[in-house]
Amino acid sequence: MIAVHEGQERILGHVGGPVPPEVVPVTRALARVLAVDVQAPFDVPPADNSAVDGYAVGSGDIPGSGTRELEVVGDLAAGAVFDGALRAGQALRIMTGAPMPAGADTVYPQEVVEHGGGRVRIGPIAKGVNVRLRGEDVEAGGIVIEHGTVLRPQEIGLVTSLGIWQVSVHRRPRVALLSTGDEVAEPGTPRRPGQIYDSNRFTLRGSIEQAGGEVLDLGIVPDARDELTARLREAAAMADAVVTSGGVSVGAHDLVKDVLAELGTIDFWQVAMQPGRPLAFGRLAGTTFFGLPGNPVASLLAFMLFVRPALWKLAGRRRLFPPAWQAQAMEPLRKRTGRREFKRGILAYRDGRWEVRTTGPQGSGILSSMVAGNCLIVLEEDRGDVAAGEIVMVEPFGEAF
Ligand code: AMP
Ligand code: MG
Repeated sequence: MIAVHEGQERILGHVGGPVPPEVVPVTRALARVLAVDVQAPFDVPPADNSAVDGYAVGSGDIPGSGTRELEVVGDLAAGAVFDGALRAGQALRIMTGAPMPAGADTVYPQEVVEHGGGRVRIGPIAKGVNVRLRGEDVEAGGIVIEHGTVLRPQEIGLVTSLGIWQVSVHRRPRVALLSTGDEVAEPGTPRRPGQIYDSNRFTLRGSIEQAGGEVLDLGIVPDARDELTARLREAAAMADAVVTSGGVSVGAHDLVKDVLAELGTIDFWQVAMQPGRPLAFGRLAGTTFFGLPGNPVASLLAFMLFVRPALWKLAGRRRLFPPAWQAQAMEPLRKRTGRREFKRGILAYRDGRWEVRTTGPQGSGILSSMVAGNCLIVLEEDRGDVAAGEIVMVEPFGEAF
C-alpha cells in the first residue's frame, strides 16, 4: 500500500515534458497554457496620461493657498496629442486617457475648478495627482505573463494591451478514454436487466476537458480479453494518455491490469485512501496509462488526485495542484488513521468564518454526493476522528484555473 503523495510523486516522475506548442489567435486562447513568456515590447501606458477629465497644469502654478487663474490654451481629447508645451500661467483642458502635454505634471478634476471665458480658477492640490505614469502597468522588456500560466480573460486582455494578437500555447494533451465492464450500457440505448448506464465516461470526459485535455472517446469495452487488448492498443497509438475505469480490482473479470502487463509496463497500486483504493498506472507504447476504479465517486476522485496533475504537467502548467483552504467542521467525522480520506463537503461562509458539512452518505457508488457537494474534505493520514468545531482542510471543486 502506498500513500497518496507517494503515488502522485511517482506519476509525475514518469510523465514526460509538456506536449509541443502551437500558435493560436488570442480569440482562441482562453484556458490554454502559455508556452513561452510574454514580454512587453513597450511601456503600458506608453506615455503619462490623465486619469480624469479636467485641466492639466505645471506644478509650479499650483497656489499654496487661495486661488489662481490660468489661461486655457487648448482642449485635448483621448487619442489626440498636444503639440506645444505648457508655459507658466497656462492650463490645458484634457480628457481621461489623453497624454499629458509637455510642461504639465498635475491634473485638476473638472469638478474642483471654476472655468469660463477661456480661463480656469484653481486652488491648492497635491503635485502629480490624477496622472497615470508611463509604464505603471507594464514596463518595456519585462515579463508580463510567465510560460505555464493558464490564460484567463484578464491575461488575454493584458496580452492584447501589448498589441499582440497571437500566442504560443501548448497543444491540448490528447486523452483516450474508455469504460470497461459487461454491465455497463451506453446512455440513450436500451439497458438489459443487470446493466447500469455508464456515468464514469462522462464525468471523466468533462474532467479531462476541464483540465485542458482533448478527449478521444473509445466507448465501452466488455470484460473480454481480446477486445480489451485491441482497444487499448488503439488507444495508445492515438493519445498522449489513456484513461480507463473499472476492471482494476481483484474480481474474476477485472482484466485491465493483466492486459496492460502484457502490452506495456504496469504498476498496480493499492493507495492508502478512501474511497478508491485500487489504481493501475503504467506505460503503454509511449503513452501514460491510468486504470481508475469503477465506482463512480472513486473514479472521479482518483482522476482529481492522480490524473489531473499529470495532465496539467503534460499541458505545460506551472501549478499542478489546486489550492487548499481551511474550514470548521460543523459535524463530527469518522476517520480511520493510516489512510487519507476524502469526504464530499458543502462549504459556506457564514457568521464570519468558513464552515463545512458533509453531503450525507459517503459510499463510493453515491455519485449524487459529488453533485450535492462543492468541495472535498481532506482528512490527512495521521488524523483520527474529527470532532465538530475542529479545523479541516478543504479543496473546492471547480475549474481550478
Ligand atoms: P469494477 O472495478 O469494474 O468491479 O467496478 C466497480 C463498480 O463500479 C461496479 O459496481 C461497477 O458496476 C461500477 N462501474 C464500473 N464502471 C462503471 C461506469 N463506467 N459507470 C458507472 N459505474 C461503473
Ligand atoms: Mg468491472
